[in-house]
Amino acid sequence: MSPTETLSGIVCHKCQFKVAEVLDGCPSCGSESIETVELKQTGSILSFTVVHVGFGHMAKRAPYVLAIVQTEENVKLTTVIDGVSDFNSVKIGDKVRFKGMDEKIGPVFQY
Ligand SMILES: [Zn+2]
Repeated sequence: MSPTETLSGIVCHKCQFKVAEVLDGCPSCGSESIETVELKQTGSILSFTVVHVGFGHMAKRAPYVLAIVQTEENVKLTTVIDGVSDFNSVKIGDKVRFKGMDEKIGPVFQY
């Protein structure tokens, strides 16, 4: 785990599409007129699943919560929610915040 301070993404100058990944072009319209931006680090859970059996480098982490989080800026991203001790307490709409980037699994959020 090598956490970074910022949640980076890109915004497209042509269609204003925003995505929580750093890419060479806009995934929506294909424009290369994009800018790397720092995204808001708070959001809420849109949907989630509890993964009981992880694969590969995720095996040691299981069980864990894999969620789709929508940030304040309406950017959706798939993320692991870290530090959940009671999986029954996880609810859609829960507020979560960015914890850091894991170089293997991508963004990690926490309560
Ligand atoms: Zn675009």
